Parts: sequence; C-alpha cells; structure tokens
Amino acid sequence: MSVKVAVRVRPFNTREKDLGAQLCIKMDGQTTIITDPKTGNPRDFSFDYSFWSHDGFTEREDGYLLRADDRYADQQIVYHELGEQVLNNAWEGYNCCLFAYGQTGSGKSYSMVGYGANKGIIPVSSEEIFIRINQNPNPNLMFEVMVSMLEIYNEKVQDLLIPVNQRPQGGLKIRESKVTGVFVENLSKHPVSSYAEIEKLMEKGNTNRSIGSTQMNATSSRAHTIFTIEFKQILINNDTKTGKVSVINLVDLAGSEKAGQTGATGERLKEGCAINKSLVVLGSVIEALAEKSSGKDNKKGIVIPYRDSALTRILQNALGGNSKTVMVCALSPATVNYEETLSTLRYADRAKKIKNHAVVNES
Ligand code: ADP
Ligand code: MG
Repeated sequence: MSVKVAVRVRPFNTREKDLGAQLCIKMDGQTTIITDPKTGNPRDFSFDYSFWSHDGFTEREDGYLLRADDRYADQQIVYHELGEQVLNNAWEGYNCCLFAYGQTGSGKSYSMVGYGANKGIIPVSSEEIFIRINQNPNPNLMFEVMVSMLEIYNEKVQDLLIPVNQRPQGGLKIRESKVTGVFVENLSKHPVSSYAEIEKLMEKGNTNRSIGSTQMNATSSRAHTIFTIEFKQILINNDTKTGKVSVINLVDLAGSEKAGQTGATGERLKEGCAINKSLVVLGSVIEALAEKSSGKDNKKGIVIPYRDSALTRILQNALGGNSKTVMVCALSPATVNYEETLSTLRYADRAKKIKNHAVVNES
C-alpha cells in the first residue's frame, strides 16, 4: 500500500489580506494547480486528498466558479478524512503514522494540534479513542492506551513529558532491538484512561518545547515533535489472552524553509542547518524509497539512509516499513511563498510513490 498524501492550503492571514496578497494556487478535485507568478506557467499535481480552505472563489477548468464554502475544508472535514482512518487502522492492529510537512506558517500545527476551539487531528483523535473505548460492548475486551511525546532539536532527542531540568545533556539515545525494532531509550510512557489525561500531558509537553523565534514567524518551532499513542486491545477468553497492538505516530515537523530565507544567522543558522539535516535526510529517504518502489532497484539494491538522522531513524517503520502512513503537506496560498510551496508540492509528489507493508500486530 502506498503512502497517502494530502495537501491542505490555508486561507490568507490578516497581514496577507492587508497587503493584497494574490493566490498562486488553486484546487480542482484532486488536482492542485500552482502558477509561477513571474512567468504565468501553471503546473499540475495530483494527490489522494486536497483540502482547500480559501476565502473567495476558485475557478474550474470549464470556467465554472466554485464558491469557497462549497469546499471549505475545516478541522472537522480534515479529521473525518484523515484522523478517522488512523483510528480505524489502529483498531485493526496496524501501526499508523501521520506527519505534517511544510514551511513555517503554512498550517502544520493547525492541522496536527489546532488552536483553541479549532482542534486538530491529535486532540480530536485522542478524544475519539476514548469515545470508542467507552462504547465497546464486549466485557472481555480490555484496552490499554499509553502516550509519549518527544522533540528532535539540533538532532538531539528529548522527552517532552519530563521536567526540563531532568533532561540528559546529550539527549536520549536511539536504540535498536531485534524484537521491538527501533526505540528511544528511557522515553517516558504514560498510561492514560481518559481524554482529559491526554490533554493535560499535551499541555505539559507543549510548555517543555524549545521555541525559537525567527524573522519569519515569531513563535515558529525549529524542532520536530512526535506524539505517540500506543494502543493495545486484549481479549480475554476463558484462560487465554489474545491481543492487538498499534503504535500511532503523529508528527509535526519543523519548518521546511531554507535557513537563509528566514534571515537566520549565528545560533539560529546552526539550528536551521540541523533542522535541514533531518529534513534533507527525510527527503533522501523518501527519494530512495520512491525509487525502490518504482522497480528501478534492479540488482544493485538501494540503500535507504534511515540511519543518517534522528528523525528518519525514529520514523523508519513509518517510512517504507510496517505502517499505514499519511503525509499532510501544508501550503501557503500566497504568491510570495511560491518557491517554497512548489518545493513542498514536489516533496509531496515523491512521497506518494512510497510503498509500505503494513501487517496486523497480533499476539
Ligand atoms: P506551522 O505550524 O506550519 O508553522 P501554523 O499551523 O502555526 O503553521 O499556522 C500559522 C497560522 O495560520 C496560525 O495562526 C493558524 O491558526 C493559521 N492557519 C493555518 N492553517 C489554517 C487553516 N487551515 N485554517 C485557518 N487558519 C489556519
Ligand atoms: Mg508549527
């Protein structure tokens, strides 16, 4: 099964509106069309899901003008299309991964976490897990939910659910075991029995994040955040216990823009380079996997450079492994971001060629 790719374009923000920003992108069904503002040349891409959330009108090829509210993809629609299948897969015992990619300010955190009442995929899915558990009619079926939350910052892995002063200086080590595969050593796992408990942990994790400010976006995170839910179902029949396990990784990646573009220098530039390292390796992994899936592999065998960055080591299973994976690419609608948006679309285009081999984790 291929990695599913979604694109989501955010509306103009107030500043862009005030500046009279122009659209460089439109969507027609599953087709995303981006137009070079200098040359007027359009380019077409096609993805599994396309979420348009722009004010105003969008023109279809036959000249028909769609009203934006015909197709406005709010948080509910995005959850319905993406979050629900993650839960369905988790219930069947598949590992799942959903990650958000895009430049700073394009809407990654809005999609994954959300703001205020506009809850994103992580809180809504967490809430839904317990709604489903509480509706379970089978008294012999038990559930176990555990969460963990980590950050990769300058290639260092840190646990976000422990106090900042208890962090090991060099960060947590990534280990590999023959039985369980790749894991982060000493990462705290928290058993939870309600959504309220998850919400509290998420709040705690968010306050423990490293936030850097750049000229581009004062609160932009320069780190990758991974929120993991381990979901176990245990069926007790007389004396025998059988079970299914699913690991759900929900990833909010750091901004994909080049360090130079944010006016970064010194420490900030160093951070930019480290972030780019994980993202560059992620790009190489995606490229190598796409090539492998295309059958160009021949006899040589393509080496997938998972081990070259912390991010790709941790996400190894999600990329080309045992996982049902969805990539959400967040897009800015404005012509000023044309180059970055085009590069995100190219990235997304490569990702959809990856084939995974998800299996049910039964015991
Ligand atoms: P990122 O995490 O990619 O840096 P954010 O998710 O923080 O970007 O989004 C930047 C701003 O745009 C936020 O104020 C957010 O509320 C807003 N925004 C992003 N996507 C949407 C959307 N689909 N609908 C409405 N507002 C959005
Ligand atoms: Mg963000």
